[in-house]
Amino acid sequence: MQNEFQIEFGLSKQSDPEKIEQDLLKLIPKEYIKDVNHLFVYHGRKICDSRKPKCEICPINNLCDKNIV
Ligand code: SF4
Repeated sequence: MQNEFQIEFGLSKQSDPEKIEQDLLKLIPKEYIKDVNHLFVYHGRKICDSRKPKCEICPINNLCDKNIV
């Protein structure tokens, strides 16, 4: 899961899973941590389609290196 965040969203520049986790903990509010896996799966299905991402409506487009807006 953590490497998906790194690869798909560019939310961390790290390759060590523990360092990726620390980067994500800085970005994601504590109240969402327990649901983060479900949130990212849902996000991938509804917004960040690999063939045609909807960057223009993406709530994290200000954080994403792959933003095409
Ligand atoms: S900005 Fe675009 S590429 Fe980045 S997470 Fe959002 S939809 Fe995906």
